[in-house]
Amino acid sequence: MIIVLVGAPGAGKGTQADLLAEKSGFRKLSTGDALRKHVKAGTAVGKQAEAIMAKGELVSDDVLLAILEVELGTDAKETVILDGYPRNLAQAKTLSKIEAKNPVKACVHLDVDRKDLITRLSGRRVCGSCGTSFHVVSAPSKVAGICDKCGSKLVQRPDDEEKSISVRLDVYDKNTQPVLDYYRDRGLYKRISGLGSPGAIFKEIIGVLGAS
Ligand code: AMP
Repeated sequence: MIIVLVGAPGAGKGTQADLLAEKSGFRKLSTGDALRKHVKAGTAVGKQAEAIMAKGELVSDDVLLAILEVELGTDAKETVILDGYPRNLAQAKTLSKIEAKNPVKACVHLDVDRKDLITRLSGRRVCGSCGTSFHVVSAPSKVAGICDKCGSKLVQRPDDEEKSISVRLDVYDKNTQPVLDYYRDRGLYKRISGLGSPGAIFKEIIGVLGAS
């Protein structure tokens, strides 16, 4: 079973996907993380995706499908949280072709205003080693620039730089609205406000999933 988690960059998708994996035993599959792994490892996919990702644009649907096919299992008992996919209507339709084995149970939309998203993204810092996320104002590390978890250096993702942020938000707005409409038409759409503490938002998500 698949739970599609949709939210603009900075809406807190990754945090909620981590919480769902940790507390509910679901498996998180983040297409952004999978792509970053390819970039780090210098694979052919990574080389193709790196510049596109740095600009904040979308990597091709073919590359994403190849990643999905490798990463998405066929274990009928497993619940997978899809973080970052589908990002456009074509990807939602591609996903529907795999749904015979892996049906989408719900599309959870974490909704956050653009102004708040820009504040969140521009202050985000991530550990270059373990990927833990911090924020210079709202969730700073104990020692500036150093990861609390593993002691490695914190970095700013190239796509969190100001020039990429507005591209990413524009790309999101344009491409993702049809995805939300698509799941709304199928009766699977659940809106959750992305403002509030991660714990409170998590409880709301569990609430809507329980009811679906
Ligand atoms: P994220 O970590 O989800 O913000 O993804 C980071 C970047 O990876 C995006 O800005 C895109 O360049 C790329 N990416 C991740 N998921 C997708 C997707 N489903 N389709 C196309 N590009 C993607």
